[in-house]
Amino acid sequence: MKRGIRLTSILLVFICLSLALLTAWQVWFSRERALHELNVANLNLVQALDNYTEGVIRQSELVLIELSDRLQNGLAMQQPERLRALLQKQRAVLGLANAIIIYDPVGNRLLSSPRPPEQSPNAADRAFFLHHRADPSTDTYIGPTIKSRITGDWVFTVSRRLNDSDGHFAGVVAVTLDVEHFLSFFGSLDLGEHGSMSLSTGDAKLLFRQPFREQDVGMDWSDSPVLQLLRNHHEATSEQTSRIDGVKRVYALRRNDRLPLITIVALSREDALAPWRHDAQLFTGLILLLLIAVGGIGQSLIVDIRRRSRTERQLLLAQEELLDANSRLEVLASQDSLTGLANRRSFDQTLEVEIRRAQRRGSSLSLLLFDIDLFKRYNDRYGHVAGDDCLRTVAALLKQCVRRPGDLAARYGGEELAVILPNTTGEGAEAVALGFMQALEQRHLAHEASPFARVTVSAGVANLTPDQQDSSVLALALIEAADQALYRAKSKGRNRMESTEVDSEHRR
Ligand code: GH3
Ligand code: MG
Ligand code: MG
Repeated sequence: MKRGIRLTSILLVFICLSLALLTAWQVWFSRERALHELNVANLNLVQALDNYTEGVIRQSELVLIELSDRLQNGLAMQQPERLRALLQKQRAVLGLANAIIIYDPVGNRLLSSPRPPEQSPNAADRAFFLHHRADPSTDTYIGPTIKSRITGDWVFTVSRRLNDSDGHFAGVVAVTLDVEHFLSFFGSLDLGEHGSMSLSTGDAKLLFRQPFREQDVGMDWSDSPVLQLLRNHHEATSEQTSRIDGVKRVYALRRNDRLPLITIVALSREDALAPWRHDAQLFTGLILLLLIAVGGIGQSLIVDIRRRSRTERQLLLAQEELLDANSRLEVLASQDSLTGLANRRSFDQTLEVEIRRAQRRGSSLSLLLFDIDLFKRYNDRYGHVAGDDCLRTVAALLKQCVRRPGDLAARYGGEELAVILPNTTGEGAEAVALGFMQALEQRHLAHEASPFARVTVSAGVANLTPDQQDSSVLALALIEAADQALYRAKSKGRNRMESTEVDSEHRR
């Protein structure tokens, strides 16, 4: 039963542990999958934004190339109205441009669309102008985000150097792109509550970031470890805590293939994992309920097994007690309560059994019958209680004298005792009877009302070598013979033994 409880417990622990482990694995796996899907979605988004930005800048570049070609090949500044009309047309085509501007070699605005106010500011200190003046290349340059000195809008420039016919610096043509436009486009995408997107120059200077904050403009993040990821790849993903707002985000970065631009999309980990967390909590809750149910059922199972084992133990105990009581009953049923010798019923059974055994073996058996002499007088003289004591003492003495395993001493009735001596001849039986009588003599139990002054017995001894007659008939004959012998002993004066052989006459 204990083994049953142990097995049940092991099974329960195994089921609960497996469930818990499976749940943990499932939750962890679904989290990894959610993060992986997040990275894939981020990379797709960053690529789309990068394509969009590249498209806008490419368009601007085309306008700039055409403009600078025309300026250098004939469309002279002497025809400003024609030029302005061209600028307006191109700005309309571009759609996104804040302005298209032509600067002279010292940074003054020669012409622009839209038309500038009377006192338009000099741009000689602007980064894009300084760059082109210093760099003889006529490649397109993407400048940092600046605040327009005319409109006050945040813009960044796409510009080209103008050369005169000798190849000297002749000014700059620039398109200023409205940050606001990009922000409204970026903002139209759902990035969750804490998501962000940004565009930076190739050397990791922030052009703008959505959500927009003025103080972030131009921020140099070239020392960020994230930039290292783009050293050998165009794309990368990473988990970082933002240095701008301290929010932990999952980043997707992309360096443009042709332009010095870096686009970043960052989604908050918390936002991204919210659906997973909801599912995981639900799932874990359900499994927890299941575990509690399994535990409860297991517990009641163990309690049940324990209860059953207790009942079985009690049953076993009761059975043992019953067997014990039975054997005690058996003893009681075969014993005489006063003397402790075999009772009459047991005597009758044993006698027949032994006669049948003697029949089988062809051996003889003997029966001794003792009757206490003048016992009535003993009772009269000493009282019944003393009489009982005397009877017990005589019986105990008889028991001591009959020691062979097969022998049976019994109380035949009243103060008459009997001994069955299997496999014993007449002489042997006489010897046993005399031995007992001598022992009684030596014990000297006082009996003042007796002529012998002590308790004596008369003995009748009968011996039988059984033929094949019925055992009960033979038993009766043996008892009768012993009784007659006893009677003779009584009539010859008591305290003596008479013996007889059971012959064919007796058996009739
Ligand atoms: P005898 O056998 O020598 O002829 O004389 P007796 O006095 O013994 O005569 P009998 O055998 O007829 O009497 C038996 C007496 O034994 C009767 C009764 O008073 C007494 N007796 C029988 N059974 C018991 C017993 O269990 N306890 C006691 N105290 N006395 C018993
Ligand atoms: Mg008697
Ligand atoms: Mg008697």
